[in-house]
Amino acid sequence: MKIAVFSTKTYDEFFFREAGRKKQHDLHFLEPRLTEQTVSLAAGFPAICVFVNDQLTAPVMEALAAGGTRLIALRCAGFNNVDLAAARRLGLTVVRVPAYSPHAVAEHTVGPMLALNRKINKAYTRVREGNFSLDGLLGFDFHGHAIGVIGTGKIGSIVAKIMMGFDCCILAHDRTRNAELERLGACYTTLPDLYARSDIITLHCPLMPETHHLINAEAVRQMKQGAMLINTSRGELIDTKAVIAGLKSGRIGHLGLDVYEEEADLFFEDLSTRIIQDDVFSRLLTFPNVIITGHQAFFTREALTNIAETTLGNVSDFEAGRPCPNEVTPDRIRK
Ligand code: NAD
Repeated sequence: MKIAVFSTKTYDEFFFREAGRKKQHDLHFLEPRLTEQTVSLAAGFPAICVFVNDQLTAPVMEALAAGGTRLIALRCAGFNNVDLAAARRLGLTVVRVPAYSPHAVAEHTVGPMLALNRKINKAYTRVREGNFSLDGLLGFDFHGHAIGVIGTGKIGSIVAKIMMGFDCCILAHDRTRNAELERLGACYTTLPDLYARSDIITLHCPLMPETHHLINAEAVRQMKQGAMLINTSRGELIDTKAVIAGLKSGRIGHLGLDVYEEEADLFFEDLSTRIIQDDVFSRLLTFPNVIITGHQAFFTREALTNIAETTLGNVSDFEAGRPCPNEVTPDRIRK
């Protein structure tokens, strides 16, 4: 099938070409992000392949449908950037990669926890400059501390298990309980209780209307003094301005982000010679107790291989008229 692959980076092309050896499709790699301005590039392509910051709004999808596109293949798990109601109305099929490597994201999540706690980023620079002083590098034992995991699906449950390895106490919150985690000792609780008792809070629920700005001023107010907050899920789970206020007051003692609510204009590009126009993001960068990575938690060889193979498999299912297990079905509109 002829596929326009938007937001292509060299690594996408490499892994898709590798996967394409087994599942043959006619891949056209395009660098631009899909927006109302670039959607004309998709004209004549029955399938498009998109990533987390491509814009699948109603006007974009109307233009896609008018240009002959019938399949939107997301090469990611989240589908918060897709107007599913518009897709349904226009008869566009949406498929995704529900799980490519939950381990990749879960393992990355622990990176900023350790780095923030033991100031590894600072220690690295100091030692390279011949400064072996330990002042300012004091951390705490993870052992015995409480980790609040919000969203205990594929990724959150692995994070919980990793943190159990540090002998942490796991407090969990989810709409559905994970029986295996409970058996291993995790305690499900309400959000206010999780906020009040957790030393580290890590977010792994999806972005939906009810989770938008889940971490707002009220949530910050309920947190333990000096709590660490980690978000490797979706930027809009956090009201960034409320979290900045929490950092300024000391209520939030450490912040680790792999995602940011306005990341679409920043992440995945080399902007090192430009002036960043986002003042909220720039303020975040000034805090000594904040570590930000640019949406790289998924970025492992295993994950990129699975993403490419599953995406092309989804396209093959669609082309052959087979039911695709990874279709984002209309019932998800309500979730
Ligand atoms: P999943 O569907 O397996 O788990 C999500 C869990 O969140 C489910 O158990 C669900 O019941 C729970 N949930 C839903 N609504 C909730 C609510 N209101 N409060 C608490 N819990 C709620 O998904 P997953 O594979 O674990 O992925 C989690 C998120 O991670 C994705 O939605 C995606 O946004 C993000 N993600 C980020 C990266 C990255 O590179 N940073 C990569 C992949 C996924």
